[in-house]
Amino acid sequence: MGLLTQLRNHIGMKPNPISRSTDEMRPRTDGADVTVSVCPYCAVGCSQLVYAKQGRIIDIEGNYDSPINGGTLCPKGAATYGLLHNPHRETTVKYRAPYSDHWEERPLEWAMDRIAERVKQTRDATYEETDENGVPVMRTLGIGHLGGATLDNEENYLIKKLFTGGLGIVAIENQARI
Ligand code: SF4
Repeated sequence: MGLLTQLRNHIGMKPNPISRSTDEMRPRTDGADVTVSVCPYCAVGCSQLVYAKQGRIIDIEGNYDSPINGGTLCPKGAATYGLLHNPHRETTVKYRAPYSDHWEERPLEWAMDRIAERVKQTRDATYEETDENGVPVMRTLGIGHLGGATLDNEENYLIKKLFTGGLGIVAIENQARI
């Protein structure tokens, strides 16, 4: 007996206006594994329910139990599923050489090594222990970092710890404030 028929019987509703096929319909999230998560986009921190079947995410929606969003998501948060499964999403490193007019694909390892080399070179060349008045500053003004709102707490913690305390970078910003 379908859920709708059970409900109809429960409230004593007759005759049954619901077709069998309608009565037997199930949401696509039926039987899925559900994980509580947090929307990756902004500091409101709306709670999400992530549904998965056979290890693959099939849907993401607002968490009804959350005191923050009560089951709702704004249009951006509601499109989180598209962040994960989107045929237009770039999945490889794109590199445009100086003065070049086109992008080239490069391996991730190549890009990571190149970024590390350039950060090291720039920091070595621009690091200041004191400013022009002799005040200790321990900083570099030669590197900036622009993060994204999809970064999570752990990533932001590491960025702050490495870039500020470790490298002395002052200009650390997030796209949400631009
Ligand atoms: S659903 Fe919208 S308001 Fe909520 S955390 Fe995500 S982006 Fe922010």
